[in-house]
Amino acid sequence: MGADEATAGEDGEGFVFSEKPLEIVGGDGVHLHDADGTAYLDAGAAYACAPIGHCHPAVVEAVQTQAEELLYVQASYPTPTRTETYARLGALAPGDCSKVWLCNSGTEAVEAALKFARSATGRTKVIAAKGAFHGRTMGALSLTWKPKYRAGFDPIPRGVQFVPYGDEAALADAVDDDTAAVFLEPIQGEGGIHPASDDYLQTAREVTAERGAALVCDEIQTGLGRTGDLWACEHAGIVPDAVTTAKGVASGLPLGATLCADWLAEGAGDHGSTFSGNPLVCAAADATVDTIVEESLASHAADVGAYLRERLTTAAETHDLPIREVRGRGLMLGVQVRRGANRTLKQLALSERVLALPAGRTVVRLLPPLTIERHHADRIVDALVEVLS
Ligand SMILES: *Cc1c(COP(=O)(O)O)cnc(C)c1O
Repeated sequence: MGADEATAGEDGEGFVFSEKPLEIVGGDGVHLHDADGTAYLDAGAAYACAPIGHCHPAVVEAVQTQAEELLYVQASYPTPTRTETYARLGALAPGDCSKVWLCNSGTEAVEAALKFARSATGRTKVIAAKGAFHGRTMGALSLTWKPKYRAGFDPIPRGVQFVPYGDEAALADAVDDDTAAVFLEPIQGEGGIHPASDDYLQTAREVTAERGAALVCDEIQTGLGRTGDLWACEHAGIVPDAVTTAKGVASGLPLGATLCADWLAEGAGDHGSTFSGNPLVCAAADATVDTIVEESLASHAADVGAYLRERLTTAAETHDLPIREVRGRGLMLGVQVRRGANRTLKQLALSERVLALPAGRTVVRLLPPLTIERHHADRIVDALVEVLS
């Protein structure tokens, strides 16, 4: 399921998306298990979709209760779980990004931010960074850098200018009076776990504010505690005009959200979606978000993440492992290896029973549940030492 393995028709079976040779039938906390009952430590949290672990009892109970009450009603009727989701996400949003737009995926959260920014500013130029990943529907794809994702889909909507990630001068140069928005991941995930410096994000904030353009932080991977702060943009002390979230916000049930400032929300026009904020996914989101807040999982992620990072760096030296660099923040870490990441991941899964993710060809990406403890971190390090020695 890693991007590198998502090759259509690879196995000649009746599906488009390729699958791994490992059938997962259950999950419990930080583990997934197969039909034989073999447990795998999920060091990728199923692509960050299980921030509080798999089948967390609070989420399971909330979903069961809601399923018996009401599965669906359209978004034009207030319904208790959605009202709670609006309130919770609005309260947690950075600064004044407290207008909440709900949808069903990350790419849709980005599409919404793109439409709102264009409509609210009346401008069409948009800026994104080289290496960026913002999703795969046409609008979000236009902001996604890698040719691999874009190939075959021309003409992709125009108007997007890509700037080198981290280059303050290039960004300041690119933003002008025609710019509707700048989209940035505070830490590039799919692009290889590259954190932006605080200075870079502060510059992005300054130049967009000067020109009346929206700054959109795509926090679909970094958000809700993963990097040790509730939002990664908080690390730089900035407040964007919009933040996108998805992936783990409802523990893997399909929910995305665009949290934005009033002026941007005014650009929402007639944007909408039938399934948007349905009662069931909102029940899962409310329980997930409550758990993240009540158990202070952002600061826990900062602690365990620092420990994991330190242990990885030390292990790389003492065992002379083929590791070029360990980077990232909190529980969003990239281990750049001097060999194929996919081979490493396969060995980790099959011989060590540890599931991690790729981020490009040479980076092993670790996005474990925010609930992991130090002994789980130790297991991840030991498994990597075993496989890379
Ligand atoms: C995963 C991801 C997306 C796309 O989310 P989907 O739910 O797969 O559409 C967009 N931006 C970032 C930063 C992501 O990590």
